[in-house]
Amino acid sequence: MPQPITGGCMCGALTYRADAEPINVRVCHCMLCQKSTGAPFFARVQVPLNTIQISGPVRWFASSTQVDRGFCERCGSTLFSKRERKNVIGLGFGSLDNPNNFSPQEHIWVSEQQTWLRFADDLPIHTGSAPD
Ligand SMILES: [Zn+2]
Ligand SMILES: [Zn+2]
Repeated sequence: MPQPITGGCMCGALTYRADAEPINVRVCHCMLCQKSTGAPFFARVQVPLNTIQISGPVRWFASSTQVDRGFCERCGSTLFSKRERKNVIGLGFGSLDNPNNFSPQEHIWVSEQQTWLRFADDLPIHTGSAPD
């Protein structure tokens, strides 16, 4: 069994646990991730949706026909980006209990990145989504 991936929101009411290895770890620069988080990009660990247990006051917002954003109803922290049809969920780095256990493998949607950003990590970059 891999070590569970755990995390929670700012107020502590919403927590999660995923018993899974990450599928991928990416930084997304798309406009919807920016709007959803209020941050210049969204770094997230992706795991299978059916491996996560969420407890607390989660609310979902459909930011597109494919992606739902999950946030704490009480404090407003955005934790999740969920794709039900693909059975995957992204866990925001800021919500992880141990973010330093992970590091991103690539940048995606850099066509929409904020122009002041400079990457110093030599990771692959993709204009849009990463190839499967
Ligand atoms: Zn909260
Ligand atoms: Zn995005």
